[in-house]
Amino acid sequence: MTITGTAEDIRTRARAAFLGVAVGDALGAGLEFMTPGEIRSKHGTVREIIGGGWLRLKPGQITDDTEMSLCIARAIDLKGGWSLPGIAEAFAAWLRTKPIDVGDTCRRGIRNYMLKGVLESPYNQWDAGNGACMRMLPVALCTFGSENLLEDYALQQAHLTHNHPLSDAACIALGRLVHLALLGYSKSRLRRELEELLTNHENFRFEPYHGLATAYVVDTMQTVFHHFFKTRDFESCLVETVNQGGDADTTGAIAGMLAGAYYGMEGIPKRWLKKIDKNLLEEISTLAERMLELSPYLFSGQAAPFSASDLS
Ligand code: MN
Ligand code: MN
Repeated sequence: MTITGTAEDIRTRARAAFLGVAVGDALGAGLEFMTPGEIRSKHGTVREIIGGGWLRLKPGQITDDTEMSLCIARAIDLKGGWSLPGIAEAFAAWLRTKPIDVGDTCRRGIRNYMLKGVLESPYNQWDAGNGACMRMLPVALCTFGSENLLEDYALQQAHLTHNHPLSDAACIALGRLVHLALLGYSKSRLRRELEELLTNHENFRFEPYHGLATAYVVDTMQTVFHHFFKTRDFESCLVETVNQGGDADTTGAIAGMLAGAYYGMEGIPKRWLKKIDKNLLEEISTLAERMLELSPYLFSGQAAPFSASDLS
């Protein structure tokens, strides 16, 4: 892919990454908890946003993955910068609306905040679900330009609901991949970036891929990594990811985040965007840009502050 890192490229990729979350969520949501075989016999290969599924969704309807990402982004926007209490409050307000879907671990963490003001769940061996990872995009955007901030904020937001080393590691690794993708780094560079995660936590190894796409963050990330690195465009990445079934809306959302950051706006099929509510698309675009404005990365309208030789 062409190496580009102008401010405008980065803004466009940031928008595509956030829209990718929504599109992937909407595409996968109707297939949640199905096996690949069940999907195939019921639908063939799903390439369109059809809704349905166990939540009986309207085509284009998004779920907790996008909604919790929006909570984080809106809180940051409202406070004009990072605010963990602001994010916790946004999650609480969201839970009070009785959302169509909430993960158990997320619900427990938000309840603990509502009842006791707890901003950090204690370590729990059962917290290795993908619920903290699925809402990482606004965190990656508002920390763009600083690895340290990324680690700090990723863990803060994750621990509101999930406190487990595998979830932590996945959140940080995903954030780093998004940062590199926004800058226009190559896929081989992104793949190298993953080595640290795969060395420290061998269970994330996805070559060979075993085909599990559950809500266990290890399965989720293996599914996303496998399909992201195997495919060559946004559409096939998402189609192959969600047709794996399992936690398809969440694997879809995370694949959409990564593929959106990597391929940019041109990659996202227009027919998918058309299915999503117009106001939501607009809000997502605005919030994506706002997150970048609040990030440590200072836009000069010039090329990114990285030399082209770093980008191979
Ligand atoms: Mn969901
Ligand atoms: Mn899900």
